Amino acid sequence: RVRTRFAPSPTGFIHLGNIRSALYPWAFARASGGDFILRIEDTDVERSTQAAVDVILESMSWLGMTPDEGPFYQMQRMDRYKEVLQQLREQGAIYPCYMSVEALDALRERQMAAKQKPRYDGTWRPESGKTLPPVPEGVQPVWRFRNPQDGTVTWHDKVKGRIEISNAELDDLVIARPDGTPTYNFCVVVDDIDMDITHVIRGDDHVNNTPRQINIFRALGKEPPVYAHLPTVLNEQGEKLSKRHGAKPVTQYRDEGFLPDAMINYLARLGWSHGDDEIFSREQFLQWFDLEHLGRSAAQFDEAKLRWVNAQHIKASDDAVLAADIALRLQQRGFTADALADGRLPQIVALFKDRCDTLEALADWAVVFYASEVQLNPDDFAKHVTPAIRPVLQEFAALLAAGEWSQEAIGQAIKATLAKNALKMPHLAMPTRVLTVGVAQTPSVDAVLFLLGKEKVTKRLS
Ligand code: GLU
Repeated sequence: RVRTRFAPSPTGFIHLGNIRSALYPWAFARASGGDFILRIEDTDVERSTQAAVDVILESMSWLGMTPDEGPFYQMQRMDRYKEVLQQLREQGAIYPCYMSVEALDALRERQMAAKQKPRYDGTWRPESGKTLPPVPEGVQPVWRFRNPQDGTVTWHDKVKGRIEISNAELDDLVIARPDGTPTYNFCVVVDDIDMDITHVIRGDDHVNNTPRQINIFRALGKEPPVYAHLPTVLNEQGEKLSKRHGAKPVTQYRDEGFLPDAMINYLARLGWSHGDDEIFSREQFLQWFDLEHLGRSAAQFDEAKLRWVNAQHIKASDDAVLAADIALRLQQRGFTADALADGRLPQIVALFKDRCDTLEALADWAVVFYASEVQLNPDDFAKHVTPAIRPVLQEFAALLAAGEWSQEAIGQAIKATLAKNALKMPHLAMPTRVLTVGVAQTPSVDAVLFLLGKEKVTKRLS
């Protein structure tokens, strides 16, 4: 059974690059009928915060990436790590190293000066026939992993292909600190073993950790999982997407009016493909997703493309579903649920959804139908509400006020006004739009006026 995991470190808000590292393991678990596990890697206590955990959970829940198990917290698994450390110690797979920080620094400097890659020199590594230095008094050692010295570590990465690293390149990693706390690479391996992870799908910033982790797996008598290292997501300037380089928190896209399914669609395409399909539903994606079509090169974030994808999803969404979302957005802007419950919202949504690339833009339109005042675009006003047309607008307003309120009746009133004044449709429709909804470009004017309601229309026109 396939088991994947998302293992974020809660050290800051989570951006699109991070959440994409959740999307693929989630989708792979769903596509293969497996399990998706959430693990919070919070061992960096200085930088980890509960607020960051909350934002991770909130972002995943918004996008509907529900874990089957978890969240597990590494800080709550310390006893387990210590147990495995003890096991490795009994096996002789780890050893204490008493080299001081100063001695390590000096070693590093000598190696750098000799143009060598800095690496631990194995001073404290026990070998048969080797005499170790005397143990200094009162010093707690770090524990180092006895990395194999010969041979290579090879794996078939689902994205990068075959990777082979010589063990001679890997030095003996510190896996427990002097106070006994385990280090990062070790915890990851213990977790991946205990959680029965079959596929590790993560960012390629971890590719250097993989051979080390594979050696730890083997020391524990386990076969490593399948790895897929995802290429970086770049921002629009071609830099690695990061908080420092202006990446936005995932939840901000929700606030700006992006649909979860549009986000998933866009993020899915940022590093994976299914033929020429650009627009697809969550269900399609979860059926189609595979590791074979992950891209090998870095993907570049493109906000305009995201907006386009969002517009396609808004267009294809059910009016009632959109209306429920817009109602919440309007309540955030101060309208009461009661005022919004008059049944017009789904119709307003139906009329405007084709021209909006975010739900906030759709909410902007809806506001026009509920607010007592409308903001007039000054340029449109100057261009269309000319002094010559003003008496005609008064007359049109009077006609509407006197008649019954239906889309047909409004259509008749428009025709009658045009005929009487020998005008063409745009002469009346443009200024009417500007005065009633603020701008000259809208869907068909009779439909807009009808939804706006008699009172607002006649008041705004006159
Ligand atoms: N905690 C790591 C990170 O946030 C991920 C580790 C992993 O996926 O193995 O980058």
